[in-house]
This record gives sequence, structure tokens and C-alpha cells, in this order.
Amino acid sequence: MMDQIIQHLKKSKHVLLASHTNPDGDAIGSLLALGIALDWLDKKIFLFNESPIPAVYRFLPFIERIEHEIPATLEFDTAVILDCGNIQRIGKGSPAACRIPVILNIDHHITNNNFGTCQLVDTKACSTAEIVYRTIKKMEIPINSAIATSIYTGILTDTGSFRFSNTNKSAFAICEEMIGCGVNPYEVAQHVYGTYSLGRIRLLNLALDSIEISTNGKLSMMTITQEMIYETGTNSEDIDGLINYAKRIEDVKVAALIQEQKTDSNQSTGLKTFHVSLRSDGTFDVSAIASAFGGGGHSSAAGFNIETTLEALKTQIIRLSEKI
Ligand code: AMP
Ligand code: MN
Ligand code: MN
Repeated sequence: MMDQIIQHLKKSKHVLLASHTNPDGDAIGSLLALGIALDWLDKKIFLFNESPIPAVYRFLPFIERIEHEIPATLEFDTAVILDCGNIQRIGKGSPAACRIPVILNIDHHITNNNFGTCQLVDTKACSTAEIVYRTIKKMEIPINSAIATSIYTGILTDTGSFRFSNTNKSAFAICEEMIGCGVNPYEVAQHVYGTYSLGRIRLLNLALDSIEISTNGKLSMMTITQEMIYETGTNSEDIDGLINYAKRIEDVKVAALIQEQKTDSNQSTGLKTFHVSLRSDGTFDVSAIASAFGGGGHSSAAGFNIETTLEALKTQIIRLSEKI
């Protein structure tokens, strides 16, 4: 699969690279790393992510190259979709991406639906950045400090700083090599974890206060409403990582974070849209639950979107504890 992907990349002239909406460090890091590498090969590249770039990732090199709209006038011969279990995960750019003749699917989600012309899906990889690293090495593209910092950030964040169950030997080996290529680990950590706005800390307070535990103690649930976001002057990027507080509670096996989305509530039905994030301690496959709700992810980290009422959703989630 790797060889086919490389052949397609070598033949390509104008490449669209895209990653999932509400990007995390892996979505941004793998997008930038492969983008910079293809730029070095003199390919014409266009980097796309639907969402605004979270403040903590704005220090990354070439971050200003990421665009949030795909102009209809552009014609691409190749699309590279990164860190997405299905192509719809890139959001409003997906109809344009679907029309591109060659679609390369580079990902590590267990729920990946094998979309595209060619797939490089490795569910054992700690991150998409790990797969991008291997691709760049195989193509014998030199790893400069910009590529290295992007790969390092993708691995660091997707492994929760080498703590999550996806942390593997290559996570350490690649990061060590990236430090040799010019990454300053302290600087990256300071940007990503070291400085939070006061609003973000206040949101943490409200989030902790919202935690509810199932009767058997095995499931924890945290809720973030639009009102909390408004009250603290934060936005969705400030929610990143909050679920880990619910997950680390003693005896908890599955943690759920309910996030009310920004959309106006449906006037006629009174329903609202929510994003639900799920995490497990590794003994329970949350990707199966997420898939049942039309989402996806990994066995210990998954998510889905749902239109319902907050009360109904909470009841549905708490009920999941009966199966744990
Ligand atoms: P999150 O809950 O957003 O932190 O995401 C946890 C994991 O599940 C990530 O690997 C996401 O890519 C994946 N995921 C989240 N939401 C969805 C969705 N609606 N469809 C497919 N995968 C998702
Ligand atoms: Mn991701
Ligand atoms: Mn990832």
C-alpha cells in the first residue's frame, strides 16, 4: 500500500491535502508535515481544514498555509485525506475532494471505511503523523525542522504525551529522531500545554462541576453547554483534553463528554446537536458504541454526533453503564 501511495504522490502535480474538522494536533501535524514534504518535491499543494486553527497550534511552521475554503476554480489531480475514518470528516470540502480523480486515504482509525483510490490505514500506528513520517522517509525527502516539529506535535498530542494506550515504540523512536532534526521539546510543550487563557481555566472549573457518575461507578459523564462556553468567553478548541479528568476517576472504565454544538436549536422540534466524545480505560471498545451512533474512532477514544435533547442524551449515556 505504501508503494502505491508513493507512486501516486510522485506522479501528482496539484495536490489537495485535507484533515478532519475541529482538528487536533495529529490532524494539523500530519497535514503540515506531508504538505511541506510535497512542497519540497515542487508539487503544487493546497492545504485544507474546515475549522479555525486552535490557538495552541498556531506556532507551527507553515500554519498560515492552511486554507478554510476550497476555491471552485482550482483543479486537483490528487487528494490526500489525513486522519479521517471517512471522507465526510473533512466537512464542507468533501464534495470537492470526492470529485478528485485520485484520493489517497492515510489514517490510523479502526473504523476507517477504506474510502479512496488507495488506502494506507494502519490501526497500530500511534498517529497519522507516524504514517506520514514513514512515507516521507520512504520517499527519501530530507526531514527539516519544520517537518520534524509537525510530526513531533502530531505524535505528542495523539498519544496524550506518551500516556495513552496507542503509545508504541515508534512514538518514542520517531520523536527522538525528530529532536535530532531540530525540534525543541520544551518549546512545543509550552505552546501546546503550557499556556491557557483564563477563560479556559474557568471552563475547566465548570466542566469538573458538571461530572456525573453512573450508579455502578463505571461510567462518568461531563457536559459542556453553549452557555458555559459563552459565560467563559471560550470556544470549542478549549474543550480539548477536558474529558481526561472524567476518565481518570477511580473505578471509571468509560468516560463520556457531551458537547452542545453551536447550531441554533431546531425551532420546530426543540432538538439540539451534540458531539459526544468517549474514552475507555482499554477494557471496553468505545469505537463500537460510537459506530452504532454513526460515528467512529479507536477502541479507547471515539466520538459521534447526535441530534436530540440534553436530557434524553444523558439518560441514553448513563444507560450504557449497564453493559460495562
Ligand atoms: P473526539 O471525541 O472528538 O475527541 O474524538 C475521538 C476519536 O474519535 C478521534 O480519533 C476522532 O477522529 C474520532 N471521532 C470523533 N467523532 C467522530 C465522528 N463523528 N465520526 C468518526 N470518527 C469520529
Ligand atoms: Mn485526529
Ligand atoms: Mn490521529
